[in-house]
Amino acid sequence: MTTRRGLIQSLLLATILAAGAGIAWIAAGGISYWVVDALFPERYETRESLDIIDNGEPAIRSSDGALLDLNRKPFLGSPLYNSTLLLQAPIPPDIRMDWWSRCKPLNIGSKSLAWFFVHDGAIAGHGYFVGYNVETNLPVQYIGRNGLRTQKPSREEQFPVSDAKMSYGRACVGTLIDSRPVGNNGHRVWEWELQLLSSDEGLVAIDLARGTVKFLWKGSDLVSTAVTDKDPMAAEKELHHTLKQSSPLILVRTSDQVIGVDSDGREQERYIIPPELRNDDLEWHRLADGRVLVPRYWPNNNELFWIDATSKIVRHEQVNLRVTTEAYRPWPVRIMRFAGETFYMPSPGTIVGSIACYPWNDVPNGVGYFATLWKAFCKEWQALLANFVLSVILAIFCFRHQRKNGLPWTWAWVTFTLIFGLLGFVGYMTHRVWPVRLLCPHCNRQVPRDRSACFACGREFPTPETKGIEVFA
Ligand SMILES: [Zn+2]
Repeated sequence: MTTRRGLIQSLLLATILAAGAGIAWIAAGGISYWVVDALFPERYETRESLDIIDNGEPAIRSSDGALLDLNRKPFLGSPLYNSTLLLQAPIPPDIRMDWWSRCKPLNIGSKSLAWFFVHDGAIAGHGYFVGYNVETNLPVQYIGRNGLRTQKPSREEQFPVSDAKMSYGRACVGTLIDSRPVGNNGHRVWEWELQLLSSDEGLVAIDLARGTVKFLWKGSDLVSTAVTDKDPMAAEKELHHTLKQSSPLILVRTSDQVIGVDSDGREQERYIIPPELRNDDLEWHRLADGRVLVPRYWPNNNELFWIDATSKIVRHEQVNLRVTTEAYRPWPVRIMRFAGETFYMPSPGTIVGSIACYPWNDVPNGVGYFATLWKAFCKEWQALLANFVLSVILAIFCFRHQRKNGLPWTWAWVTFTLIFGLLGFVGYMTHRVWPVRLLCPHCNRQVPRDRSACFACGREFPTPETKGIEVFA
């Protein structure tokens, strides 16, 4: 044990025991959490939500499902089924891209070809469509800016698409389906189906079956898109089988506008986004009278903006909903949560190591390794500090234990406990059998009796008196 080799063997054994203690710790923590959670269930308080009903009037839906007007009187009228359109907020530039987000499978096209959009992963990147034969698994068709090709399009022929659009899943934004009704029972047949692509040059509609490429909207600051029907009441009419003619409308959100174009790229409507809403996701409710209702949700205070065709805010309401966003948690659950967040891994070295290996766990959209690392450490400071303080206390115990037993390599074991915390201390305490400590007859101190001399005073222990029953071999 006094040799360097012996120390390394002991440290290895202690590390394995510490890892085992870590697994037991996680399992015990999970089980305790379930037990506490089951014994003290969380309770939810009132939870009202906002509904948009006929003519774009807002209504409050109470926790029991009743509709109320803004004065909390029962609402008379039927709720409107208006499919909600979400126009997502601008995205920050992102330089990190997973390899799998560079290839987007498309679920349209013919039965014999499986289509993909493939991106080169560059910041100002490019991409192209490729169709694989499902029998031979070979790429047989490509589509670039100039349409169908049998060879991979050159970079100039590919669609310019930023890596941010691609990695946020906003490049291939969906499909545009044109259908016409057949008969009176609401059955409809598909005329064509187009793949929509948000490129850095604008919105492109690609007919994968025919290999044609058509710009629906040209511009460089496309933020997000949504597909709806030209008729704002189409969703409601479809629900009641009264939709006669459906024609798609594609909403293109730019940094400051929402532009509606039809499937031929003709502009149908245009709204300027009020400056206070330009950084948010927009829930875009098109109303029958040409106005648009945009709600903005805050935890307890919702704001509603009505925008008219001239892009003026014609009405602005605040609706205070009775919502308890935080569930009521009994104190054992709160203590358990706090303990779980702080001591999920009582080993500062392991926490630092796992964050250093993959800092994006807690901050998924961090830019750059070191910036993300800093953010992750800032988020975990509480757990790190608590476990480091615990480590220091245990390292002092370790130091005293080494001293009491008169053992070498104290600095190595103290460092081990400092790095691996409680788990390291468990590893240290369990990696060997500790000797019995008895009073030294010479100096009267408690000393380990696994050697022939006292480590404190250096004198030999007296040999035990013979009792006549010893066996000599
Ligand atoms: Zn002694």
